[in-house]
Amino acid sequence: METKVVKFGGSSLASAEQFKKVAAIVLAEPARRFVVASAPGKRFSGDTKVTDMLYGCYEKAAKGEEFDKEFECIEKRFTDIIEGLGLELSLEKEFTRIKDAFAHMAGRDYAASRGEYLNSKILAAYLNFEFVDPAGYIKFDETGAFDLDTTREKLGERLSKTEKAVIPGFYGSMPNDTIKTFSRGGSDITGSIVANAVDAVIYENWTDVSGFLVANPTIVDNPVPITTITYKELRELAYMGAGVLHEDAIFPVRRAGIPINIRNTNSPEDEGTFIVSETAQTSQYTITGIAGKKGLSVIQIEKDMMNSEIGFGKNVLRALEKNNLSFEHMPSGIDTMSVIVSSDALIGKEKSVLDEINFRCHPDKLEIENNLALIAVVGRGMRKARGTAGRLFSALAHARINVKMIDQGSSELNIIVGVEEEDFEAAIRAIYDMFVLSV
Ligand code: ASP
Repeated sequence: METKVVKFGGSSLASAEQFKKVAAIVLAEPARRFVVASAPGKRFSGDTKVTDMLYGCYEKAAKGEEFDKEFECIEKRFTDIIEGLGLELSLEKEFTRIKDAFAHMAGRDYAASRGEYLNSKILAAYLNFEFVDPAGYIKFDETGAFDLDTTREKLGERLSKTEKAVIPGFYGSMPNDTIKTFSRGGSDITGSIVANAVDAVIYENWTDVSGFLVANPTIVDNPVPITTITYKELRELAYMGAGVLHEDAIFPVRRAGIPINIRNTNSPEDEGTFIVSETAQTSQYTITGIAGKKGLSVIQIEKDMMNSEIGFGKNVLRALEKNNLSFEHMPSGIDTMSVIVSSDALIGKEKSVLDEINFRCHPDKLEIENNLALIAVVGRGMRKARGTAGRLFSALAHARINVKMIDQGSSELNIIVGVEEEDFEAAIRAIYDMFVLSV
């Protein structure tokens, strides 16, 4: 039988109402055998995620302060769900054990992981699935790096013995068996790991949006959804800030050639977005997506005969390295070079960076310009389509937007343009209009 791994995010499991939707989705297909669950997330805007409550509560416990009140609020989030579902389940013993562990400094990661742990206990009881604790099977090495090979073996073997199971997301364990979590949003990674371990046909990641959209909906009105995107395209868009999926969630499934399908728990009839390694499906609009970010600075360097000076680029980069700065892009001309860095990272280091470049490179002109935004236009279809760059720049020209920088990735998968921060939104709308609306 085919096996699908389904992961539900915090907002999908924030309340009894949401649990009911989740159960309907899981039980609708017998292939949905392995369910990865997040901790209860926000029920409404302004609400607090249980994971954040756990961090806060443990902080108090670790300082030796009273944490009863905080702990009670956490308990209530779970008992409300149990009652709302009408389940005959008591977590009292679990609560006592966890509270005791808090008082004995069981560790911040242990504390944070209990949200997924308890929520999965409830979901397993509600679905009548087995509960499998990832602590014994999802393994990190001594350095704290996730160990896919060991995990695949242990978890694969454990799950081969069960028909249907709920597995808490977000954590595993160290070689000495202490609990370790992934970074925030890490249940996405667990889902990907489980899919890898059971050789799933698909990894369904259920959240509160119907997949990726071609552009940010706070900038463009009702942007069209992306139906299919490759891992490479996603990486480009994610780098520019298009979030939905944890970045590290890609490699376990990518390695095994398993597609990811982003779906919406609140709108299960939507097909969502498929993330695949290769696809023959061309995107309808030449471009797959547009994303961007503000808050960048450009270090502009000019020097006559730069092109023939051996080691010039290296010296510029050494100057950054000495200041512990990484760069985002580095477009260059014959006698000019622009180094784009995050403004936040540059703050406070401006003088020492400029001094260092002056000292190493003796440029004719050197200055920093702030308030730059970058926009990436990404699409696997661009390689074959003629005139993409032409359309892009005429769209920006028509909108009277000055392009400050252009960078086309060598994969021809994306074109990056730099614009003034104040032109950012207008530029994205102009590009969207050109490539999507006018098609
Ligand atoms: N509950 C964890 C967090 O809030 C992990 C997750 O939901 O993916 O970051």
